[in-house]
Amino acid sequence: MRQIAIYGKGGIGKSTTTQNTVAALAEAGKKIMVVGCDPKADSTRLLLHGLSQKTVLDTLRDEGEDIDLEDILLEGFGSSKCVESGGPEPGVGCAGRGIITSINLLESLGAYTPDLDYVFYDVLGDVVCGGFAMPIREGKAREIYIVASGEMMALYAANNISKGIQKYAQSGGVRLGGIICNSRRVDNELELLTAFAKELGSQLIHFVPRDNMVQKAEINRKTVIDYDPDQPQANEYRTLAKNIDGNDMFVVPKPMSQDRLEELLMKHGILD
Ligand code: ATP
Ligand code: MG
Repeated sequence: MRQIAIYGKGGIGKSTTTQNTVAALAEAGKKIMVVGCDPKADSTRLLLHGLSQKTVLDTLRDEGEDIDLEDILLEGFGSSKCVESGGPEPGVGCAGRGIITSINLLESLGAYTPDLDYVFYDVLGDVVCGGFAMPIREGKAREIYIVASGEMMALYAANNISKGIQKYAQSGGVRLGGIICNSRRVDNELELLTAFAKELGSQLIHFVPRDNMVQKAEINRKTVIDYDPDQPQANEYRTLAKNIDGNDMFVVPKPMSQDRLEELLMKHGILD
């Protein structure tokens, strides 16, 4: 069972990319569980065709400790298993704690069945401290992919996340599996992201083009593969899934200094 956490700057496309990749893996016959680690609880919406999932924390609040796996785990596209950890009421308490509670509960309820090929954790924003680092801190997810684009803030966040991974890699077995470029159509983006990944000692695992079909499918509460499997964008996610499935490059990343990051941006990214 490979346990994978997806990190990246807020709004970069973690939830969309994760679910589309999961759909592609499911289509290829893989057994997958998705654990949403975001209080927004939108990590499984496309797989479940809507925000029908009651979160683990809400279920605990409403029903107490005595809950069954079926209360918190729903089956989505391609028999994917979908869980949302949820969060505290806005402004109250630490959302990271919810993730810890959820993973512990899933374990005690036997959700991590041996037939699973993958568990994906879709983690909130670009925070790698405290509770949000839980999936990697506790050694649950040993494999990380960072979603980024050619925009400076996305690369800045990706570099920071790499610092977090490097820190936890020293105490545990967590490794960076690669950078996923979710294109924002920045000039020279492929070259920039390839260079950025290489500088980290890692690889660009796939360049996912920007395509309005993603949003069209999203409005219809579906992944592209589910909504229209013949779309070119569906093939992009199939390629990403295949690359992850066959990946054998797992590294302790070497984060760069701010100066070096800016140098890379000047060299590859910003064209006049
Ligand atoms: P958050 O940090 O808030 O959880 P996120 O990183 O999970 O955000 P998403 O919610 O997946 O980001 O994506 C943000 C928006 O970008 C969505 O509306 C999604 O449809 C759109 N999007 C993501 N990837 C693509 C793409 N390749 N082409 C077009 N639109 C995309
Ligand atoms: Mg998200």
